[in-house]
This record gives sequence, structure tokens and C-alpha cells, in this order.
Amino acid sequence: MPYQKILDTISSEASKSKERGEVANYIPELSKISDQKFGIALLDEQGHLFESGDTHEQFSIQSISKVLALSLAFRLLGDEVWKRVDVEPSGDPFNHLSLLEQENGIPRNPLINAGAIVVSDILVSQLQHPKKEFLQYVRKIANDPSIAYDEQVAKSEKRTGFKNYAAAYLIKSYGNLENDVEEVLDFYFYQCALSMSCQQLVKVFYIFANRGKCLQNNPYLSLAQVKRINALMLTCGFYDEAGEFAFEVGLPGKSGVGGGIVALLPEKFCVATWSPGLNTKGNSKLGMEALEKFTTKTGLSIF
Ligand code: GLN
Repeated sequence: MPYQKILDTISSEASKSKERGEVANYIPELSKISDQKFGIALLDEQGHLFESGDTHEQFSIQSISKVLALSLAFRLLGDEVWKRVDVEPSGDPFNHLSLLEQENGIPRNPLINAGAIVVSDILVSQLQHPKKEFLQYVRKIANDPSIAYDEQVAKSEKRTGFKNYAAAYLIKSYGNLENDVEEVLDFYFYQCALSMSCQQLVKVFYIFANRGKCLQNNPYLSLAQVKRINALMLTCGFYDEAGEFAFEVGLPGKSGVGGGIVALLPEKFCVATWSPGLNTKGNSKLGMEALEKFTTKTGLSIF
């Protein structure tokens, strides 16, 4: 497959695009990023890396981190995780609270904010030094000790993340949060503030395309665990646009309000895009368009 040529074509079309969406500004620190950035990187099943555009520049991965936190919680707690959080798409925006009340504090899935806050609570209970150990886990998978949190972004969200405070207190009121709201959200905001580039993201997410094993062939997840996490990415990875992403792109994936998207075809490849302008549902506008072009041009999707 001529991946390099395809990525270069997509990247050059994206760089000419006038309609680039809106950069997120509800986390003030994110609004400082230029909407002119675009990068796309792909790691194939043999570990060959292809890239085009701004693929080495790090950005805030935001909700993409929810998949990584879930994978660590799943490793530590196994199927017990599903007693605390459900596995159904919400059909709602990522920060909605209404279903939480209707469903007694059990979030619909671990990839919306409420669900990720419960996963953060699990990690705060399970780990002695949650922020340090989570970062070590991600660095180890990527085999890259340079990956770090962006303190400015974490602090910026801590000052303005009122809806996440509301969600956490609501969950706590239903008895589904073991630790203090402040402690859980401190971890959650740092987790979301992980900085990574497209080429680092494909290395980390390679484990979900490679039956749970990283590029160095070390096992992190069982095949059954990878199957479940990929299913969640397909059905819940894009909030109320999960159907649209499956329809247009046809891959399990996850987006973040920093403008990143990562998607994969099991046993074939892992691909990441970055373009900070978001569509009205909070997903990267050019990233979604790029991935639609990619699966259409290559004919490679899970369908
Ligand atoms: N940290 C962001 C929030 O909690 C993550 C949202 C996202 O990337 N969709 O609002």
C-alpha cells in the first residue's frame, strides 16, 4: 500500500483548506494554538512509520488519554471496572450530565467525561502515585521517556473545569466515587493534559492494533481486553458523533478537544491526525475529513 503518497496527498489538501473549524477555548490554554497545524502519521503492522505535516509537534491529547487510563484500570481491576461504568454509547456531548442522574451515577461509558472520572477514581485507589505511575505506563508503552504532562494546560483546566466538578460531585452523591473529588479531578486534568505528537500517539496506540503488544513486542493487554477497548472506541470514541465517524471512516478511534484523533485497523495499522480546529461536536474537523479520505483511498476499514 503506498501509504506515504496517500498521506502526502491528504496533508497537502488539508493545508489548503479554508474551513478549519474552531479551536477549543473553554480550556483557556488550548485557545493559544494556531488552527493552521495539520499532521498525519501511520504505523503499519510491521512497525514502519509514515508521516506528513506537523507530526513531531506535541499537542494536548485531552480525551484521547481516556483510552489509556481505561486500559490501565482494566489491567489492574479486570472486569470489576464494568460494575462502575457501563459500555453503551451515550449519544450525548462529552460533558453532559443528564444521563448520570437518570442512571444513578453509573456513567454510560468510560470515554465520556463522567466515565473517565470514574476510571480516574479507580486509578487513584489502585496506584500509590497515580500521576507518576500513569505517566510511566504511557512512556513504557511508547518506549519514549520524553512524554510529559503540560502543567499549564492541567492548571488551566483545573481553574475552569466546572462541569467536570459538577459531574464528579453528582457521581460522588450516588456513591460511585471512592476518593475526594479534588484528588480525582487533579489526576483527571493531568491525564488529559498529556502532550504527545502524532508520531508518539501511533506508537502508544499500536498496542490496540497489535493484539495488546507494543512495538518492542512486550504484552500489555490480553486479546479479550483489546477487543473490548476497540469496541468501546468504535461505539463511544466520538461522543454524539460516534455513528458519523463509523459511517464516514469505519475504524475504532478516539478524539480529543486538543484536535487529535487516533484510529486503528486491528493487525494492520494505527493512524493519528492533528488539526486543532473542531467541528460543532468537539471533534477535529480536518482530522475527520482526512481519515475519511484515508479509508476511502486505501479501501481499508473494519467494514
Ligand atoms: N479535559 C477535557 C474535558 O474534560 C477533555 C474533553 C475532550 O477532549 N473531549 O472537558
